[in-house]
Parts: sequence; C-alpha cells; structure tokens
Amino acid sequence: MSSLLIRNVRLVEPGKSISRGDLLVRDGRIVASGSIGAEAQVGAVVVEGAERLLTPGLIDVHTHGIMHSLYESGPDGLRAAARELGRFGVTTVLPTIVPQIREGWLKLLGEIADAIPSVREVNIPGLHVEGPFMAVGGAACPTLPGDLELLERILSACAGRLAVMSVSPDTPNILPVIRRLRQEKVTVFLTHTRAGVEQTEAALDVGAVHATHFYDVFYAPAETDPGVRPVGAVEAILADPRASVDFIADGVHVHPTAIRAAVAAKTWAGVILITDSNIGAGLPAGIYDTLLGYQVKVSPKDAARHATKNFLAGSALTMDRGMANLLRWLKLPPEQIWGMGTLNPARLLGLDRKGRLEPGADADLVLWDEDLTTARTWVNGISIYEKKSA
Ligand SMILES: [Zn+2]
Repeated sequence: MSSLLIRNVRLVEPGKSISRGDLLVRDGRIVASGSIGAEAQVGAVVVEGAERLLTPGLIDVHTHGIMHSLYESGPDGLRAAARELGRFGVTTVLPTIVPQIREGWLKLLGEIADAIPSVREVNIPGLHVEGPFMAVGGAACPTLPGDLELLERILSACAGRLAVMSVSPDTPNILPVIRRLRQEKVTVFLTHTRAGVEQTEAALDVGAVHATHFYDVFYAPAETDPGVRPVGAVEAILADPRASVDFIADGVHVHPTAIRAAVAAKTWAGVILITDSNIGAGLPAGIYDTLLGYQVKVSPKDAARHATKNFLAGSALTMDRGMANLLRWLKLPPEQIWGMGTLNPARLLGLDRKGRLEPGADADLVLWDEDLTTARTWVNGISIYEKKSA
C-alpha cells in the first residue's frame, strides 16, 4: 500500500469550504482529510504544504492543444500534450478534435481514441468531438447536416471513447443525432449557432445539457421589428435550468460582465471554465503552425488568431490562468469559483469521484503557490509535476 500525506494545507472543498488541515491518500484515493491522527500517518510519504492551497485537479472539457502539441495530430500529439498538463494544474482533460472531413479522417480519429489508455500523466475520460454537425463554421469547423449513418461511423471509430460531441441546435436533422448520442451516454454540448428559442429548447428536450464557449459563435437572430429585441439560443440557454455553460475566461473571448450575467442566471454550479486552447497556449507569444492549413499568432493578451486574417482561432489560455482570472473577476466565495474548474465539469461528465477532496475521491490534486502557479500536481495519487525551485 502506498500512502501520501500532504500536511498543513488549506483544503479547498469546491462549493463548500476552505479549511486548514491535512490530506491522506492511499492507493490513488483520498482516505481522510482534516486533522489526521498519528497512527494513520505511519509509513506515508509526507509533503509539507506550508499553508498553501490544495485543490482537486482542474478539468478542461474543451481544449485542442497545449504548447507545441495538438490532440488532433494523432497519438503522438495526444501523448505529448498530456505530458504538459500537470504544470497548469490539469488532471483530467477531454482532448477536443475538430473533424476535418478528408481521406483517412475516421481512421485517424480511431487511432487517437485508441491511444487514450496509454496516457498516464492525465485522466482522459474520452474525446470531445467538436462537429461535424454544425450550423455555423468557426475556425475550420465543418457544417454538415445531421447524418445518423456518419454518426455511427464516428461512434465506431471512437470505440466507446467518445465522451462529448458538440453540435448546433439549428443544424438540419440534429434531433435524431442528439437522441442517438444520449443512447450511447455521450454528453451533448451546443455551440456554433444562430438558433432561435424553439430550436434550442428542442435540442435540450432531447438531451443536450450544456453550451460550450458560450456567447462565442452564438449569434442573435436579426432584428426584424425595430424596438423588439430578438431572442435566440443565448436567452433560451440562460433561461433554462437544464443547461450549464462554459467560458474561455481569457478576457478576450468574453467580457467578465458576460460571465457574471451567466452566474446570476445559473449560480456558480452552472458555470464551467474551459480553455479552448490551441497550439501555442502556455508558450511565449509567437507564430505557430496548426494542422488546419494556417498559422496562428498566439499571445496571452490577445488569444490565438489566424496569422494573416486575424480572426480568433481558439485561445492561448491555460486552466491555471483561467482560474486566476475568475478569482479576480467574480465576487463569489473562492470555494465556489474553484468549483467552476473542478466539481462542475466533473458533474457535467458524470465523474463522481473527481472534483472533490472527500474521502473516496480520486487523488487528483494540485498544490498552488501564492501567485496561483502550480507547485505540485498528482494524478491518481502519483506525482506528475513538481515545480523546480529557483
Ligand atoms: Zn473548440
């Protein structure tokens, strides 16, 4: 039995409390927290927390790449990206793939899905496939009508490792696609849309549960009667308690006020942090190659943009910086804000043992330095990142 004692920390129980204490881990699970008796400590590897914050590991449900790697480049890209995540406090990730419909794409998707069990440095509950059944293209996103035959081919390529599919509520024939995804226990996100209220509600009625990079690529219908405010997917989602939302909290994609409006509608428990990060996130500002036939110009202050046409192409955000931004922008108890990067995405994906520090939970843990950079990260009780001391 391997045990780990992290002592003298401020334990963040998302949504509930921040309290001083210790945390005991045995065989990859949390077995006790708070004040831990001497007997339980015998034989444990001890880490001194020095009153720093200890939180559950961050969970990113929408990210395309990090540093020099893109998940959709193939198994090597997936494994290389996975190795970098610990330094940003990420312990669970959904590698997000924008399907490029061309010769061999399903085979590549299958190879990426098959590579998941070989990754040790981060938990990967499955892939997030963003498209191809979209109504509005984003950066290189295909816009195909709902097609059950194609969906079956995607499902079989992923071989049980499709965790999330993002679709648009206004894609023709999308409702049978959403129903089929729910049969397979795939979580359905809505995005890239000009949908009206009825279309959005119909998608929620058949099992869509979440809106990703909310407000971004969510267009309001045109004003047809001056003085009458058009309503669309944004209002339908804000008004519907069944739907949660996520944000790229980089200060570029959405204004902090837009996030506060969503928190007012959804409470802290209905709001989730994502990065939607592209290649170059976590690296110095620069120009980087993507696999999508263009380069991106990346800078933390200005997200990731097409290098020549300047449109937004994902973000340069990392989850640690996103948490720091939310903690600065939102006037909420910090334990609730931590929930947006930990407990809330765990609940969305049905991961009961993640996003909490309670006994029985997986020991996915991050010890944070005072400047909210990652000091240490553990995945299932195994240390996968430790900051080098200066
Ligand atoms: Zn994306």
